[in-house]
Amino acid sequence: MELLEWMARGGHDRVLALQDEATGLRGWLALHHTRRGPAYGGIRVWRYRDETEALLDALRLSRTMTFKCVLAGVPGCGGKTVILADRLEDRPAAMKRLGEFIEELSGAYHCGPDAGFVESDERALNETTTHFAHHSRNLRPAGDATAEGVVYSIRAALRHASGDDSLQGRTIVVQGLGSVGLPLARRLLDAGSRVLGSETDPNRLEVAIGMGVESREPSTIFEEEADVFAPCAMGGVLHDLSIQKLKANIVVGAANNILARPSHAQMLAERGVLYLPDFVVNAGALIEGTGHERTGQTDFSAEIERIGATAESMLERSARESVTPRKAAIDMAHEILAAEESALPSGDAFEQD
Ligand code: NAD
Repeated sequence: MELLEWMARGGHDRVLALQDEATGLRGWLALHHTRRGPAYGGIRVWRYRDETEALLDALRLSRTMTFKCVLAGVPGCGGKTVILADRLEDRPAAMKRLGEFIEELSGAYHCGPDAGFVESDERALNETTTHFAHHSRNLRPAGDATAEGVVYSIRAALRHASGDDSLQGRTIVVQGLGSVGLPLARRLLDAGSRVLGSETDPNRLEVAIGMGVESREPSTIFEEEADVFAPCAMGGVLHDLSIQKLKANIVVGAANNILARPSHAQMLAERGVLYLPDFVVNAGALIEGTGHERTGQTDFSAEIERIGATAESMLERSARESVTPRKAAIDMAHEILAAEESALPSGDAFEQD
């Protein structure tokens, strides 16, 4: 299929092809639905099979980011930059060039980190653009705001599954005890849950153990008996094999793109696992960061609490219509967009495998 046809199917406004011979910069920058406001989304530096695979990733991820904004009540849309990692020749220079391209968009795109984007990339990029989304020092750490939204989502899932949203006495597995996983574990422990955690960084693991987290092996983490599995490390962790091993009946976590493929939502549903899509659950920092940028306020607890209400509506709809929570969430986002008179093409352009 041709680029413009893909864009029309996904409702994308602009896609920039990025190329700079001198530095080896090759990539795509997709701005999805800009009439809602600025585009938010990370920069992914990845080894793609070819540029078409990279383009589809940018289109799919930016569109999902629009759903995240819509469902979180954030007046903005999705953006995504994907860079072909194996074409990079002078990486710092390529990032500076990328920063220039982003700067030319005059704030229409606010970028952040994504998979494969490292600290040295951020330093280089910051030399040429002011639109790298820095979490304001006036706010608490982003991971804590995200963790708060995850807790509301876990409660919504428990309420839906058992009629009781108490965290007291629950066993919750947290995969990855980093910026989100650690404050999440803290909140769960404070609420009386037993937290089993896995972490590959020994220093972080030590902090978590000191807090009361029971350490488990990363390789067998899916097999732990638990009420909830909370992936807070990296994406793609739920796939054909790990889903077979998963013992928890609820999956709620912050990691972006938890599912290796969209069809895994259906596989989880068929196994009786309640899976809450990450783009509903992990919007806490987006809500707080963009809200502060717009209004200067620092307290967005009511808005973050609403993530739980959104998760609940999504789960009710999913049960009522016998569709996966993921499909219910996307349908809800489409309806909100239609009510705003900025409807998107409703086809499944990028939800397919
Ligand atoms: P982070 O890098 O601070 O933490 C991730 C942790 O996972 C690290 O400590 C890392 O050592 C650990 N880890 C990596 N592989 C692991 C494995 N196989 N098993 C166990 N632990 C492993 O990242 P973060 O900011 O906490 O984000 C976690 C996830 O949530 C990411 O997917 C991120 O994109 C997503 N997310 C984060 C935020 C936020 O506010 N930070 C917001 C939305 C989404």
